[in-house]
Amino acid sequence: MTVQEEGLGELEVWIDQDLCTGDGICAQYAPEVFELDIDGLAYVKSADDELLQEQGATTRVPLPLLNDVRESAKDCPGDCIHVRRVSDKVEVYGPDAE
Ligand code: SF4
Repeated sequence: MTVQEEGLGELEVWIDQDLCTGDGICAQYAPEVFELDIDGLAYVKSADDELLQEQGATTRVPLPLLNDVRESAKDCPGDCIHVRRVSDKVEVYGPDAE
């Protein structure tokens, strides 16, 4: 099912680095979106592959990677990957999702 079919619209993802365990699961699932920095914590990447090192930075979730990002949020041991709608910032996958 696509994001449009689910009625979710555009999604963005951010990581709460305070809770990141640095295990790298997200970077294995979706290396286009997540990467570990030299500090051992995971960060999101921009569409042009730039690591966004600001704490809580967001990046858009490319539609073809939605499943990988969703699985990352589900399996994240730190429970610190947040996926939310761009339009109203409501979390759809992650610890704060309904
Ligand atoms: S899966 Fe979660 S805890 Fe593990 S590196 Fe990624 S953000 Fe950190």
